Amino acid sequence: MNLDHLVEHSTALIQEFCKGGHPITCAFSGAEDVVVLDLMQRATCFVPIFAVDTARLHAETIAYIHHVQQHFTLDLTWIKPNPDAVTAFERENGRFSFYEDGHLACCNLRKTEPLRAHLAHFDGWLTGLRRDQDPNREALPEVQTDPVFKGLNGPLRKANPIANWSRGDVETYIQHRNLPQNPLVLKGYKSIGCAPCTRALKPQEHERAGRWWWETASNKECGLHQTPEQILHSVEDLPLTKR
Ligand code: SF4
Repeated sequence: MNLDHLVEHSTALIQEFCKGGHPITCAFSGAEDVVVLDLMQRATCFVPIFAVDTARLHAETIAYIHHVQQHFTLDLTWIKPNPDAVTAFERENGRFSFYEDGHLACCNLRKTEPLRAHLAHFDGWLTGLRRDQDPNREALPEVQTDPVFKGLNGPLRKANPIANWSRGDVETYIQHRNLPQNPLVLKGYKSIGCAPCTRALKPQEHERAGRWWWETASNKECGLHQTPEQILHSVEDLPLTKR
């Protein structure tokens, strides 16, 4: 599919997903999923947007999200972890336990649980996930019942409107639409997450190689997009490495 057809297809998918007046929200990670925000506006689908502030993001990403909020005049909510839980966790495990324990305990605390509470107010959400981002995502559907989270009325619908876009499609679209980009991209970052868990790419590396670079290739997720077998429901489920 060429880019014009991809845009047409994804815009129609967003319109279909958002129609009916159900409470829907859309994620923004502060990276190339700015494409989804632009497509949402083309689709005249003005749902509330959220970003997860884990308190470990790069300063550039925080500033970029504020810039994008102004660029699109977004209704954007920052989702944050429970500060008391973070303090207790760090007192018990240290600030960098993710380098030793598989990282999911920290992701669960800072991302998954805050997002679980937020999504419980909605019937559906949209993401910027793509199949070509990672071998773990190559079977990603465009629309699915969320395998991790529940919604306001039970099952939560999840739309991945750029699931079948390539990295090249995304970069071309950003360029053609003159969309703002996270300044970290100019420093060699592609997939961008928390500062201590993301590094710039080396030549020829896959776009998610810089995420949790110390982990194996099969452990490159944070828990938000896992299969039911991989779901961790609370910090207590996790084996923690005491430091
Ligand atoms: S990406 Fe790293 S710092 Fe961010 S929540 Fe996960 S383990 Fe914690």
